Amino acid sequence: MELITKDLLINFLFILLPLFLLQMFYSLKFVYSIDKLKDTIFTILCLVSIILCMLFPFSVGDGLFWDLRRIPFIIGILYGGRKTAFILLSSILVIRFFLWGENVGFYIAVITFTIMAIIVSYVSSFYSKMSLGNKLWVSSLLVLLSTQITFVTATVIFNVNLNAEMWIEFFAIATVGSLLATLLIEVIRMNSDLLEKLMKAEKLEVVSHLAASISHEVRNPLTTCKGFLQLSYEGEKSPEIKQYLGTAIKELDRASDIVNDYLTFAKPAPEKVEKVFIFEEVQRVVKVLTPLANMQDVQIFTNLDESDNTFILGDRRKLEQSLINIVKNGIESMPEGGKLEINTVVDYPVVRIEIRDEGKGMTQQQIHRLGEPYFTMKDHGTGLGMMVSFSLIKSMHGQITVQSEVGKWTFFTIEFPVA
Ligand code: ADP
Ligand code: MG
Repeated sequence: MELITKDLLINFLFILLPLFLLQMFYSLKFVYSIDKLKDTIFTILCLVSIILCMLFPFSVGDGLFWDLRRIPFIIGILYGGRKTAFILLSSILVIRFFLWGENVGFYIAVITFTIMAIIVSYVSSFYSKMSLGNKLWVSSLLVLLSTQITFVTATVIFNVNLNAEMWIEFFAIATVGSLLATLLIEVIRMNSDLLEKLMKAEKLEVVSHLAASISHEVRNPLTTCKGFLQLSYEGEKSPEIKQYLGTAIKELDRASDIVNDYLTFAKPAPEKVEKVFIFEEVQRVVKVLTPLANMQDVQIFTNLDESDNTFILGDRRKLEQSLINIVKNGIESMPEGGKLEINTVVDYPVVRIEIRDEGKGMTQQQIHRLGEPYFTMKDHGTGLGMMVSFSLIKSMHGQITVQSEVGKWTFFTIEFPVA
C-alpha cells in the first residue's frame, strides 16, 4: 500500500472518532436534558476532527499538505448551517496559517475552503429534508467537488506539479470517507430519533393504563347513582321534583359519556366503525364550543365543504372529541379574543380539516412535544388533550400536522382518507 493511503486512513480514524463521541452524547442527552448544547457539540466535534486531521497530514512537497479535513468541514456545514460554516472556515484558515505559515498551500486552502463554505452553506438549507440516498450523493459530490477545486487551483493558478496517481488515490479515499461518515451520522441520528419515540410511547402507555383504571372506577359509581335516581324518578309524584330528577339523570348520562369519550384512547382501536359525515361533526363541535368562545371574545368562522364524499370511516364520538380538544386549545390560546377559522376541504382521496387560530403560537420545540402526556404550558392544564387527539386521530388512520409562529398563529391540519 502506498504511504499516502496509510496516512489518509489515519485521518479517516480522526473523522470516525468524533462520530462515536456524538453517538455517546446523543445517548447522554436523554439522561440529562441538554438539548440546548446539541448544535454547539456538533460544531465542536467537527472542529476536533478537523484539527486532528490537520495535525497528521501528508506532505506532498511545494508547501502542500494533504489531509481529509474537508470531510468534517463539508459534513459539519451540511448539518450545522451557516454559523458552523463561519466557525469552521475561520478555524481552518487560522490553524493552517500558524502550523505551516504563509505559502502556496495556504492560498490554495483559502480559495478552496472559502468557495466550499459558500456553496455548502447554500446547500445545507435544503439538505435536512433530503432522503438518505440524496444526502449520500450530495455529501460525496461536494467532497469530490472540493478536491477538484483544490486540484484546479493548485495546477492552473499556482502551477504546482502533481503526481496524477496520488491525486486519484486522494479523490477516491475522500469520496468513500465522506460516504461512510454521512451514513454513520444518519444512523446515529436515526437511533436517537427512535429512542426519543420509544420514550414517548412508553410514557403514553403508562397514562393509558392509568386512564383505563380510572375510567373503570368512575363509571361504577356513576351507574349506581343513576340506578337510584331512576328508582326515585319512577316513584315520584310531584312533577317539579320529577323534572329535577330527570335533569339529574340526563346529566349523569352526559358525565358517563364524557368519561367514556375522554378515556377511549386507552383502547385506540375504534370500537364502532361507521360512516362519519365530517361536515356534520365539525358543526356539532362548533356548537359545543361556541359558548366558551363567546366567553373569551373569540369568533369562530367556518368554511365547510358540503360535497357528498366528505364521509370518512371511523367513530363519530372520537372524531368529535379530538376536534374539541384541538379547537378548545385554539380558543384558549387567545385570552384577549380573536378569530378562529375552521375549514374543511375535500382533496380526493383525502379530506382535510384545517383549524387556524391567531393565538400565542408555539416554538418548534413545543410543537415537537405536542402529544406527549402531561406536556402543558398552562397553569391548570392537564397536558392530556393533545395526546388524546393524536391517538384518536391515528386510530382512525388520520394524519395531523401542526405549524405555528410564536405570538402569531397556529395551524392544525388533519387529514383523513375519504371513505
Ligand atoms: P392543556 O390544554 O391541558 O395544556 P393539551 O395537550 O391540550 O393540554 O395542550 C398542550 C399544550 O400545547 C398547551 O398547554 C399549549 O401550550 C400547547 N398548545 C396546544 N394547542 C395550541 C394552540 N392552538 N396554540 C398555542 N399553544 C397550543
Ligand atoms: Mg387542551
